[in-house]
Amino acid sequence: MSASASDAPSAITPLMAQYLAIKAEHPDSLLFYRMGDFYELFFADAVAASRALDITLTKRGRHEGEDIPMCGVPVHAADAYLARLIRAGHKVAVCEQVEDPAAAKSRGAKAVVKREVIRLVTAGTLTEDTLLDARRHNYLAALARAEGRLGLAWCDISTGDIAAGPASVATLGAELARLEPGELLLPDSLLAQPELFELFGEWKQKLTPLPGPRFDAASGEKRLKALYQVAALDGFGSFTRAEVAAAGALVDYVALTQKGRLPQVKPLVRLESDAVMAIDAATRRNLELTETLSGERAGSLLACIDRTLTGAGARALAQRLSAPLNRAEAIAARLDQVELFVADAALCARVREVLARTPDLERALSRLSLGRGGPRDLAAIRDGLAETRRLRAALAENRLGPLPPLVAQAVEALGFHDELVARLGRALAAELPVLTRDGGFIAAGYRPELDEFRGLRDESRRHVAALQARYAEETGVPQLKVRHNNVLGYYVEVTPRHMERMGERFIHRQSMASAVRYGTVELGELEAKISRAAERALALELELFDDLAGEVTARAREIGQAAAALADLDVAAALAVLAVERRHVRPKVDASLAFRIQGGRHPVVEAAREASQASGFVANDCDLSPGQRLWLVTGPNMAGKSTFLRQNALIAILAQIGAYVPATACEIGVVDRLFSRVGAADDLARGRSTFMVEMVETAAILNLATPRSLVILDEIGRGTATFDGLSIAWAAVEHLHDRNRSRALFATHFHELTALAARLPELSNHAMRVKEWQGEVVFLHEVAAGTADRSYGIQVAKLAGLPKAVVARAAEVLTTLEKSGQTGAVAKLADDLPLFQAAVQQTEAVAAKASEVERLLAATDLDRLSPRQALDLLYQLKALLAAD
Ligand code: ADP
Repeated sequence: MSASASDAPSAITPLMAQYLAIKAEHPDSLLFYRMGDFYELFFADAVAASRALDITLTKRGRHEGEDIPMCGVPVHAADAYLARLIRAGHKVAVCEQVEDPAAAKSRGAKAVVKREVIRLVTAGTLTEDTLLDARRHNYLAALARAEGRLGLAWCDISTGDIAAGPASVATLGAELARLEPGELLLPDSLLAQPELFELFGEWKQKLTPLPGPRFDAASGEKRLKALYQVAALDGFGSFTRAEVAAAGALVDYVALTQKGRLPQVKPLVRLESDAVMAIDAATRRNLELTETLSGERAGSLLACIDRTLTGAGARALAQRLSAPLNRAEAIAARLDQVELFVADAALCARVREVLARTPDLERALSRLSLGRGGPRDLAAIRDGLAETRRLRAALAENRLGPLPPLVAQAVEALGFHDELVARLGRALAAELPVLTRDGGFIAAGYRPELDEFRGLRDESRRHVAALQARYAEETGVPQLKVRHNNVLGYYVEVTPRHMERMGERFIHRQSMASAVRYGTVELGELEAKISRAAERALALELELFDDLAGEVTARAREIGQAAAALADLDVAAALAVLAVERRHVRPKVDASLAFRIQGGRHPVVEAAREASQASGFVANDCDLSPGQRLWLVTGPNMAGKSTFLRQNALIAILAQIGAYVPATACEIGVVDRLFSRVGAADDLARGRSTFMVEMVETAAILNLATPRSLVILDEIGRGTATFDGLSIAWAAVEHLHDRNRSRALFATHFHELTALAARLPELSNHAMRVKEWQGEVVFLHEVAAGTADRSYGIQVAKLAGLPKAVVARAAEVLTTLEKSGQTGAVAKLADDLPLFQAAVQQTEAVAAKASEVERLLAATDLDRLSPRQALDLLYQLKALLAAD
């Protein structure tokens, strides 16, 4: 914009007019408006971006009497800024110059360069490696409603995976927790639904509400049919209208954000609601499956078991972990795959050696199909596909009999790509630039014309170099240099004191303090030659790039399949490595209701103890098979109850994702739903107290758990008065036993509950063993049949460093309570003030004595004591202690 704009507030410059028109089409996004080497932001966008990015807000001209706020980010560093804006919850419309500025000039001095938004960047539609976590899927999800039902669809546009399935108000939270979408599309109307209000509150940052018509089932169907070029969607599965509407909206949104280009989309998959183990959001959080309670990956189950070597493998493993299977045969098929690699360590090593070299095919393919790929993406395709041949060879060497079906399928899916690999191999140069636009990525010898243009360009450059020597000789200025910059092009440079030696043919261009610069006719001609040749070379290279990218996208389906097969093999081999390294065993998963774990361990706690060289993890059995479905586990704090409960839930999850498990033997009848209620934390964000959270989670369990479910309940009824809590826990145990009939572990402090074993046939009592040694508790971490005799709360409190006076007093209160049989004892204690005071005085006196000894010791300089004095001191100290 010209400076004159500020003088005439009412007149809008042509540039600002263009900006405002484009901005009006993208009111919800920050507009990155390309100006030369910068993306500039104006008005409110500039204010928001400068705040989010912590960059300076400046101004540029005026609009309607006000300064226009402006800020900008350099194009070459735009990715990093984009990432931060997206993370902060913004959407960004990227507006580029779509014509050469010279072309605009030819339309008149005031003509503005044409610009267009070429892409909307949103959290759910990222493809750049710099913006994505290589080891995690980034899902875009859409929720729709039709015929009174909800449907959920999700896709990862960086890999082309897309699926849809049913949802309901009750299950939506669990579904979203499973997917953790980066962005959730939904119709405005659903946003206002009271029953979904609380759920959406949790996903507020990720919601993208859109007008209702975008979620129309009929147009969704049309869109999907067009995408897959089919006449009916039945071939993909039978979808509800709501699912079709959601998937349609998804595809529509991708087209919108990518400005019409669609990535290679894999076939739409339907996820039956009962195909995977249902795990609600609270259980996922509590069990720290993919991240810890504090939100980190390290310390989660995923981080602990992940031995994959490729990004795609890591993503596939994370996806498996968030959706354990419910079908025994499918689980067994996966386990067969792992077993192959466990049994044949050499094969496993060969396969992993190949995988370690394999680049991320999926994401490279997706960028190329979206027209956003670069030379290195082509190289990734070349190298990744080249490895498929080696992988097939490695697997063909398997001598132990036929390959398990899933491995055989993967080998099949690897496909044959020699021709493409060879072509890319010939075409690409050894060193590749990141961007296509500067050229230099096509190998010499691939296309004769290209070599010719490059030859011309290089020859002219040599001529230029030769000119320097000639001019130096002719002028007698040996320091004369021929140089190049973007403003002047080629020029001759000498120091000012040699100016008078420069003859007529040196045309003065620029004077500076230390140098004078000239042009010559010859240089001008050579420069034109060079730039003509370079331009033609570049144009040809770009053409060749499109050619190669086209060849790749034409084979997108095969490449996608190969990539998926690589990921699958990576997961299987990685799980085998894990199994061997961590001494896991193959679980037996069937349709029974068994739950028999021998020598079970908590994978994360065990690994952490090993890493910190703590003493070994104590393995424990657990058997919740029919006849003893419900275990009541008692024991002091810190004895290992939570660890035991969680380890059994984690073992069930690992078994059902098709992994080996940390145990010596394991037999599990498929768990349809997993529930946990462990460790309470205030959910202040949602305005719920600890007790409320506890009760909400318990309610969900008692309402939904089935005989096929696995329930772990750690301490219920603790957040309220003792008798209230005990009564609730009592009733919950009865309900679980009689109604839900689930396999369950129930840890409690209420020893009174153990009496229930006499009445409830399937309930059995178990306790964490502890040992008392010289007045201290020692935790053995062993689960044994029976009940804990005491809680050892006071001993644990002492370990935690409670003041001595408090510990002593607590012990006293406990004795009184135990003697008087609890009832009425509390009132009596409260009245009995002298007792309380006496105890305090006594303990304080103990503390004071101890400190006198301490004082004396502190005041003594040991180096100055004679042996005799030392002995005296000892007597003195002893006497002080004896004085009480
Ligand atoms: P609780 O739930 O009874 O209070 P936790 O399960 O939280 O106890 O365990 C307390 C600590 O004891 C854990 O942090 C862990 O380090 C250790 N621990 C628990 N179970 C075992 C075990 N089986 N073997 C070794 N250490 C264990």
